Amino acid sequence: MDERVFKTIFVVLLLASMMIRVPYVLKHLKGVTAISRTHTKQSVLVCIAAIGIMVIPLIHVFSPWLSRFDLTMPTWARLIGAVGFAMAIALYGWTLKMLDGNWSNVLEIRENHKLITAGPYRHVRHPMYTAFWLWVIFQGPLLSNAAVWLVGIVTWAITYCLRVADEEQMMIEQFGRQYEQYMWKTGRLWPKLS
Ligand code: SAH
Repeated sequence: MDERVFKTIFVVLLLASMMIRVPYVLKHLKGVTAISRTHTKQSVLVCIAAIGIMVIPLIHVFSPWLSRFDLTMPTWARLIGAVGFAMAIALYGWTLKMLDGNWSNVLEIRENHKLITAGPYRHVRHPMYTAFWLWVIFQGPLLSNAAVWLVGIVTWAITYCLRVADEEQMMIEQFGRQYEQYMWKTGRLWPKLS
């Protein structure tokens, strides 16, 4: 299959993810933040993640600079990459829809913040982060490039590891026993087996 097909799939899905996000960014701008947690650290982490999920893949799509890291992958592997990447964007959209006005880019408690435990939040505490894991895992085979794959996984791993514990601590401080009970029933990225 033509290389341009895979690059187009990536760009279309990336644009879709940006468009899905717009209404929630606008809602966030209109709303009020009640508690903000370690703002600078979290903003830096969001930028680090953006390098791996957007900047490097787009450099690869629109310039020849990363072509020395191109991999030779069979079409079936690239198609699996495309399907997995589309699933990541769909899950990302679903989590945004469920979080709605409670969503923020950084760690915040909004005015009238509600604990969401429905939809993808029923069995998993951080399904949006699951979506970003799927994103960085599948964009590698979709674009068939080692730099895209490695930088995506490493930058997201750094952001995830330095964010998730702070987020859960913030949620416990805000929701107390309600969040602790929710933690017993749910897994961080995947549903609990038992
Ligand atoms: N970690 C979640 C949400 C990411 S967006 C996920 O991966 O799906 C980050 C914001 O979501 C944080 O500021 C936090 O206040 C909020 N948040 C996280 N889990 C939530 C939940 N279950 N209900 C409501 N808000 C939540």
